[in-house]
Amino acid sequence: VAKSQAPNSAVIYDRSMSVELEHRQFIEKQLQQAIKEPEQFGLLYQPQFNARGDCIGAEALVRWNGQNLSPEEFIPVAEDTGLMLELGHQILSRACHDLKQLQDESATGHVKRISVNVSALQFNQRNFISELTSIISNAEANSHLIGIEITESALVKNTDEAIKKIAALSEMGIRVSIDDFGTGYSSLAYLNRLPVNALKIDQTFVKGIAKDANNLAIVETIMALGHSIGLSVMAEGVENDADLQCLKRLGCELYQGFYFGKPMPLAMAKHSLLPNYSTADEPANP
Ligand code: C2E
Ligand code: MG
Ligand code: MG
Ligand code: MG
Repeated sequence: VAKSQAPNSAVIYDRSMSVELEHRQFIEKQLQQAIKEPEQFGLLYQPQFNARGDCIGAEALVRWNGQNLSPEEFIPVAEDTGLMLELGHQILSRACHDLKQLQDESATGHVKRISVNVSALQFNQRNFISELTSIISNAEANSHLIGIEITESALVKNTDEAIKKIAALSEMGIRVSIDDFGTGYSSLAYLNRLPVNALKIDQTFVKGIAKDANNLAIVETIMALGHSIGLSVMAEGVENDADLQCLKRLGCELYQGFYFGKPMPLAMAKHSLLPNYSTADEPANP
């Protein structure tokens, strides 16, 4: 009946649905194959800064080599199909080996923190902490130099379990941040119970903040909330100086974004991650 009343719209709807489905199935098939082969996935590192402009660490971001797909496209498919467990394992392992490499290159063994995104699926595995512990010890990485970024959605499912896991991470010296903050369902009551260290304000609120009164109000509120329970707040997606100055005035203490640096290979990020780095050590621009 619906079809005879609006034949065209029904057909277009069906077609776009199946194109979307086919695309996901294509990604799933490729993922299944890629996960079995070493070196199919790589990590880039995007530096993070404090308000004085010192690099305080970097976020590891996965890239699928040779595939023109962003993690926003393939991570959700990996999560829905369970492949994220294996991929997440590879990502953590790679990040820990990269960290160990930096530790070895540092005269003091001290390196700035490397933060890794952990998917809800992976974090909510019962053996997540023991899996992570063995990855860290296999790589001989220093757990005090690791950070974990988790989204709000990973924390709302089973809050008591999440609290225990975050406490275990803290005990290992791992800093925990809530990623994409403001896009999920956090309530004050449960946020206060989570022993996390920082909130990362989602970039949709940060971009263009200097010119957007609504986003300004949202960021101001998130910052007040975070500071009131003793968390530090990081703005991600800082793309220009006007936005940076605005965030500084609001009292934001940590920054990440294209204005400071794009995600880059370890070899390029390395210098900012080793201690006592100064820009004078950088090669002059040709
Ligand atoms: P996220 O964890 O919130 O990471 C920040 C994303 O914003 C990154 O995109 C980064 O490149 C991008 N970004 C940073 N600064 C700017 C900026 O100034 N402007 C703009 N336009 N973008 C900026 P990317 O690498 O494409 O990752 C997208 C998302 O995919 C991540 O968001 C995260 O949710 C997920 N993801 C990426 N790598 C991993 C990973 O290794 N494991 C898991 N579980 N998820 C990952
Ligand atoms: Mg992140
Ligand atoms: Mg984020
Ligand atoms: Mg994000």
